[in-house]
Order: sequence, then structure tokens, then C-alpha cells
Amino acid sequence: MKPEEKIISYFSALKQKKIIGPSYIFIGENLSLIGRLLKIINCQETSKYCGQCWSCKRLDDFKHPDLLVVEPEGVSIKINQIRQAIRFLSRSSYLAPKKILLVKDAQKLTAEAANLFLKTLEEPPNNSFIGLICPKLEDILPTIISRCRKIYLPYLENKAIKSEDDVEAILRSGYFGSQKRKDFSLFLESLIILLHKRLKSKISYAGQPGSGFLSSLDFKETITALENLFKIYQASGTVNINLAINLIKMGLKCS
Ligand SMILES: [Zn+2]
Repeated sequence: MKPEEKIISYFSALKQKKIIGPSYIFIGENLSLIGRLLKIINCQETSKYCGQCWSCKRLDDFKHPDLLVVEPEGVSIKINQIRQAIRFLSRSSYLAPKKILLVKDAQKLTAEAANLFLKTLEEPPNNSFIGLICPKLEDILPTIISRCRKIYLPYLENKAIKSEDDVEAILRSGYFGSQKRKDFSLFLESLIILLHKRLKSKISYAGQPGSGFLSSLDFKETITALENLFKIYQASGTVNINLAINLIKMGLKCS
């Protein structure tokens, strides 16, 4: 069984026994796998997830009324964001069995925000699920780690990181988990394909901004970004990977 499928089966077994814990830390960058786990939590059709119901479909693009995604505003996740998140969890759910709070780049919680969060992590309101996501466990405060169960996400090996969400997650974190040149090339290829698609849609549907994190770029900026990506791609055997990630991030206005 592939590592991803093992985690899916594990979670689905927890669901059947009704023992999915309230707070988890997901270590890694496999956002699409996290999306599948969230579907398991709230799909009422099967013991895994059906992929077809109202809830599953909304979780596909992480837009569900019972899901709140918190991510850094600027360089950190601030105390006000955590205050709002706690309020969100304390309300009753709209439709799904559980309210889900997802904190991306949890290593960027300020000390104040983390402290405020501790009590909720330990005793979350009924029917809630909290998932923290971080690239490396070492970057998370021990007081937070001790309150959560940990899941190491399998690394996306030998496979292009296809989804825009995954590419965006890596760029926003400013950190590329692997130091393997091959993985970095695949990441660049994925991003080039995404920008190329974006360019095509700009030509065919002039003026329509579309959605996603690349949508703020205009035509000229998209072309410049592509040109710069090709340069980095040509140097991808020698370039400093995390420096390159941050250059790309700036070029794409992805702060
Ligand atoms: Zn479903």
C-alpha cells in the first residue's frame, strides 16, 4: 500500500471507531492529502469519503462553511487571527458534523498567538477538529506539540507537485522541504505549467481575473515571471533552492 493510502486507511479506521482526535499536527507539504483527510472527517456517506456529496465537493477547494483556514498575515500568524479562530470553533456548525480549523505554516504563530491557542488545543470545543500544518516539527513550540497528535505526511517523491494549492503552500512558506535537485526541478515545472495555463486563459478570456494565488498577476507580469522561472530552471542544478524559492515568491507577488 502506498504511504498516502496507509494514512487514509488509518484515518478512516479512526472514523469508524469514532476516535479521531481533536488536534493534530501535520508535518509536510502534502496539502492534497490533508484535503482528503478533512473529507473523511466530514463525509457522512461512507466510512472513507465519497468525493461526491455537498461536503466533499466543498472541501475539494478548501471552501466549506464549516472550515476556517488560517495562514500568516505578512510574516506571522497574529493573536487576533487565533482569537477569531477560537470564536469560529465555539459556534455551532453550519452543516457538517465537525467544524474544522486548519492552521497553515503553524511555525509562524507569534508567541502570544501560540499561548492563547494552548487551552483550545488541549480542550477544543465539541465537534471540532484542529489541524496545524508545518514543514518541520522542530519549528513548533513544545507546548503546542505536546497537545497534538502528529502525522508525518509522505513526501511527494518522484511526482510533480501538480496542484496550485501545493505550489502556493510551498511558496508562501518560503521553504522547500527537500534539498533534492530533482524535486526542485519538478516543482519549477509544475509552476511553469500553472503560469502557462494562466497565460492561455488571459488570452482567451481577456479581462477575467480568475481565482487562485496567481490571479493577481497581469499579462506582462505573468510573462516576466515565466522568463525568470526559465532562468532559474536552467540554473536549477546549482542554485540555492530556498533563495530561489524566495525570489520566485517575490516575482509572483506571493507574500
Ligand atoms: Zn462525501
